[in-house]
This record gives sequence, structure tokens and C-alpha cells, in this order.
Amino acid sequence: MSNWYKDIQSFKNANGYEIDGIWYPRVTSIVGIKAKPALYMFYAGLPDYKTGEAIKAKSAEEGTLIHETIEAILRKDPVVIPESIKPAISAFMDFYSKNEVVAHKIEERVVSKKHHFAGTMDVLADVNGKLGVLDIKTSIAIYRDYSMQTSAYIEALRENPNMPPLTRWIFRVDQSRKCIKCPATLRDKGGREKIRNEKGKCEHEWGPMEGEYEIKEITTFDEDIKAFLACKDLWSWENEYWLKKIYR
Ligand SMILES: [Zn+2]
Repeated sequence: MSNWYKDIQSFKNANGYEIDGIWYPRVTSIVGIKAKPALYMFYAGLPDYKTGEAIKAKSAEEGTLIHETIEAILRKDPVVIPESIKPAISAFMDFYSKNEVVAHKIEERVVSKKHHFAGTMDVLADVNGKLGVLDIKTSIAIYRDYSMQTSAYIEALRENPNMPPLTRWIFRVDQSRKCIKCPATLRDKGGREKIRNEKGKCEHEWGPMEGEYEIKEITTFDEDIKAFLACKDLWSWENEYWLKKIYR
């Protein structure tokens, strides 16, 4: 995240949305103010900063492809599944066929007028009879930061007085190859191979690429929205220079 912008418009474009003539900061930009120590570890393990940026961009592109494909399936649009993400999508299909999933909104903009932020939620769906926000992640784990991000969508949706009670889930889908001789797994994230779960010495023999998924319901709304709004205060402090120009 860069703090340097050449003008108000580039700040606005990078950090929010214009909705009905009003500019709102974006949920993901606000959440981005929180330090992520794991990210420093990631950069520390690379030859230079540029390599890190390239891996992140490629990985984001792969994540977007998985999002778009899953969302097309939920919309019941005809879809050609790219070879590179077939294992992840088949993991999703496994989940989709074993659960009652009805998507109501996909990639929908939500706005909190009360707290003045906006965001785009992945999916609002009924899952096994419960209504909630389903957030799709293609990371290697479910991180707590996701709870903060999704609580903001719930807060915004709840401003509609007709909204029924809502829950939320993180749906994580990924693909990796497992060693046939030990518990290690090999992932290709952003063009970089990463081995995890390596214990002891093994001349790994990698099996085929396999998809996996997990779904976690998040039930800690009060703590999460409190943390999100604290992030928003900090974010506003950090960007005071631009916000004063926008809201004067
Ligand atoms: Zn092995």
C-alpha cells in the first residue's frame, strides 16, 4: 500500500468508490491499515521487493480466476473451467453438491451510510437454510483478519431494516500436491513453489494436484466490527491529508 498519490482523484480511485455522487472508502483499503507480520516474513524470504510484488500480483490473478469461476457457477452461467484451476473448482463442486446453496447476490456493492464506508461482498447466499455472507478465499489458511473484513459487510447490510438475521462464512478453497511418502504439501502460489509441513528428511514424490476446501462460520460480530471501526479511525488518521480535501 502506497501513501503517495499525485492528486485527489488517484487517492479516491485507489481507496474507495463513488456511489450516487458520494465517495466512500473501501472496506479492503480500511482493513489494509492493519499490520500483517506474516507479510514481512514473506518479503524477508525473497531476493528483493519486486519479486514479492510480482508473486503477489500473479497470486491475486489466480485468486480472481477462481472467484470468477465459482461465481459463474453460482449464477448458473455456462462456464469453461481453466485447466490451471480445475482441482480447486472440483473441490468447490464437491462442497456445492453436498450442501444446499442458493446465491441471492453476487459481487454486490454494500454501503454503510452510518459509518461511511463501502465494499463489495462476494456472495449473499442461503447455505443449508441460513442466510449469510459467503466470502471466498484462496489463501493457504483462514486468517482472523477475514472476520474483520466480513463484519463490515454485515454491518452495512444490517442498515436495511428489512434484512433478516445474517451470518457469515469464510469459504477457503485451494489446490496443492501431496507427497506420497510424507505429510508435506507443495503449492504453486503466484509462480513460486512452496513446500509446507516438511518434517524430517524426505526425497519428496509429489502426487497429482488436488483441490481442498474448508468452510468456517464466523460468530464473533461484536468484536469484529469493533476492530473494523478502530481500523477505520486509524485509516482516517493516516489519510487525513486527502480526506480533508475530499470532505471540506
Ligand atoms: Zn515427502
